[in-house]
Amino acid sequence: MNFSADTFKQHFPLFAQSENRELVYLDNAATTQTPACVIEAISDFYRHANANTHRSSHRLARRATAMVEKVRGDAARFLGAASTREIIFTRGATEGLNLLAHSLCSRLDPGDEILLTTAEHHANLVPWQMQAASRGLHLRFVPHEGGVPQFHRIGEVLSERTRVVSVTAGSNALGFRTDLPALRAALSGYELQWVLDGTQLAVHDEVDVAAIGCDFFVCSAHKFYGPTGIGLVFGREARLQELPPWQGGGEMIASVDLLASEYAGLPHRFEAGTSSLASIAGLGTCIDFLARQDRVGMAMHEQSLVHALHRGLAPIPGLNLLSRSEHNLGIVSFTHSRCAAIDLAQWLDGRDIAVRVGHHCAQPLLRAAGHAATLRASVAAYNTREDIDRFVAAVEEFLSHLDADDAVSVPEVSVQVVGAQDWSPDDLSSLDVAALRSRNSWQDRYRTLMSWARVISRKEAVRNESNLVRGCESSAWLVHRCERGVHRFAIDSDSRIVKGLGALLLALIDGKKAADISRAQVLGVFAELGLEQQLSESRSNGFRALLDRALELAGA
Ligand code: PLP
Repeated sequence: MNFSADTFKQHFPLFAQSENRELVYLDNAATTQTPACVIEAISDFYRHANANTHRSSHRLARRATAMVEKVRGDAARFLGAASTREIIFTRGATEGLNLLAHSLCSRLDPGDEILLTTAEHHANLVPWQMQAASRGLHLRFVPHEGGVPQFHRIGEVLSERTRVVSVTAGSNALGFRTDLPALRAALSGYELQWVLDGTQLAVHDEVDVAAIGCDFFVCSAHKFYGPTGIGLVFGREARLQELPPWQGGGEMIASVDLLASEYAGLPHRFEAGTSSLASIAGLGTCIDFLARQDRVGMAMHEQSLVHALHRGLAPIPGLNLLSRSEHNLGIVSFTHSRCAAIDLAQWLDGRDIAVRVGHHCAQPLLRAAGHAATLRASVAAYNTREDIDRFVAAVEEFLSHLDADDAVSVPEVSVQVVGAQDWSPDDLSSLDVAALRSRNSWQDRYRTLMSWARVISRKEAVRNESNLVRGCESSAWLVHRCERGVHRFAIDSDSRIVKGLGALLLALIDGKKAADISRAQVLGVFAELGLEQQLSESRSNGFRALLDRALELAGA
């Protein structure tokens, strides 16, 4: 293999900044980094060629127009389209999928069916739901096991009313790929339109829409080293010709009268208003950049990183790998039986390792797989084996701290109020705020807070919507009552660090009279402990949301 990740990485100035020298960036499925040539192309556009396209008689406008149409040609080659009439610029994959849902569904009759899968990103689910609701269409789903579509059973749900099949080329949450040749074979012979959400595919494979055989293909440039704010829709010309535009405005018309308009031809009919011109310039340079790379070598390297991640994580006790090495889109996803994914991600962030936690905009898939959130590490070609080793070592270190914390002084609450109609305040007597303050390093304070989580019992009775505190990154519930002027509180959360922070909050305000509870004092301790700087912004906001709810409940 000749491809060198180290050499490739040098194209990306973000990694050369002093603050990012130690960064391990494993959030590539969300957004990839941008090479210098793309950044320069965007800046260059504003320096030398900024003007609106079409309709103008001056040289800058001509130059901008020529650039946009050249990039359209580059994009057509990038995707294997037959002509530039088949390429539509959008703001991103989400807009592309909305465009297709809107335009395709406007041609359907009530009772017609759209076939999706449980594995779709919300961007390929919600637009179809909106159309189905307003037009009386039916959404059907490919049979699945634990959320993973079983395409070999697609025949069970295809019917003579199926008009559109819109599926992802692979899961952005769990990493599995769709077997596209098999899907093509299964769909052949049906009179329907096939939309492929290729958002996660375009960075890993050299896309050839003709070989894939889909009618429409959608992707976002920021997922393949391009800029944000620009995406592509490929549509087979004969299909696009049949479709009405989805947004009205300038650029998409041939002529306009007061009561009706004549629309422009392909592809401009689908591009109302001013496009993201600087991003289109960046996209063109990005496509040239990719054309100069060893795409096969990149893909092999990415695959070897995915194998290394699975090999490193699989033996860790309690770690539940939800992704598999084979047929994978560069995504590793897992949970751990003893910690919330968000706690681990926060720890990794402290080690300058960027990953993502949550449902990854694929709630139906995660729900079907039996999880609310996973930790996702996603690779790009600039990631190195050292990145993977640091990531796996940091996960192991975090878990070994959990083991050590479980062995030390703070006793875990043994009596859990499971299913009780009422709640009791937790015993906070072992929490020593002064001792927490005296810990020298942030890491020590963090570990202490994690160990404090164990005084917070699980309280089924309080886990409901009315006790939920909005603004917390992970679910957190807070309850209160007043006993002869003394305010009592209890909290619960799935996240250990949220429980730890909640324990800190309660250590400062529980059992006090309203006059003795001070917002300024709590925030003062929070700042003094350095939590403000060390926790993510959303975590700090979550702490403040808990505090504000507590003050509101106490009328303090
Ligand atoms: N489809 C898939 C499979 C994705 O992973 C994403 C983003 O993560 C999208 C669609 C939406 O892309 P964008 O946010 O760029 O519009």
